[in-house]
Amino acid sequence: MEIIGNINSEESMGLVDGPGIRYVVFLQGCQLRCKYCHNPETWDINKKCTQISADKLIKKISRFKSYFGNNGGVTFSGGEPLLQPDFLKECLKLCKEKSINTALDTAGVGFGDYDEILSLIDLVILDIKAVDPDDYKALTGKPITFFKKFLSDCQRLNKKLWLRQVIVPGLNDNEKNILALKDFIAKIKNVEKVELLPYKTIGVHKYKDLGIKYRLDGVPDMDENRCKELEKLLFK
Ligand code: SF4
Repeated sequence: MEIIGNINSEESMGLVDGPGIRYVVFLQGCQLRCKYCHNPETWDINKKCTQISADKLIKKISRFKSYFGNNGGVTFSGGEPLLQPDFLKECLKLCKEKSINTALDTAGVGFGDYDEILSLIDLVILDIKAVDPDDYKALTGKPITFFKKFLSDCQRLNKKLWLRQVIVPGLNDNEKNILALKDFIAKIKNVEKVELLPYKTIGVHKYKDLGIKYRLDGVPDMDENRCKELEKLLFK
């Protein structure tokens, strides 16, 4: 039986979602409601977007294989790719068969059964929305426990991790947050890279179109130099 995915969009030459040149697949659906999300159109799991079988998608992606070089490949992003687990697993199996490197760009909040997905994935790019449970809930609308369960599964299965946090002016652009993040990351193994991503206001217009209230109205783009300075604190 064909396993069909619900894809919001695709990008054939992504340079920021993992190592090398990558084909990025943005899956529809997310259970979080991050205040700064610039893809609110991906939230609704029931919204029908591009329906494609895993087989067809990976056949299409394999045509780009020569561009991937030594370290490129495919990144499954979203939305939250963990919300389409059967489709994701099938895609990952097909990528393995074709020796295509795979990365999962995730906030770690799916349905809780991640072992098979993690056994198939080469790299997990994990968003740490916040490390304090109250801050996490205020930012995303969900308890931090789901994210922690995913992280502990990654650790048990020794998955290679890239960790990220979006830095927002007035919200978490302070040394206290960065030092708490540093402490949190120090306890995690297999971390290959840590990045702070400056908040950007791109995507704010989408909220108007969708009739959703934007909760960070008036908050400017994060200063990139300040973000880099804060990032240095992580590695001191
Ligand atoms: S996890 Fe990603 S897609 Fe989901 S709400 Fe947060 S920023 Fe948006």
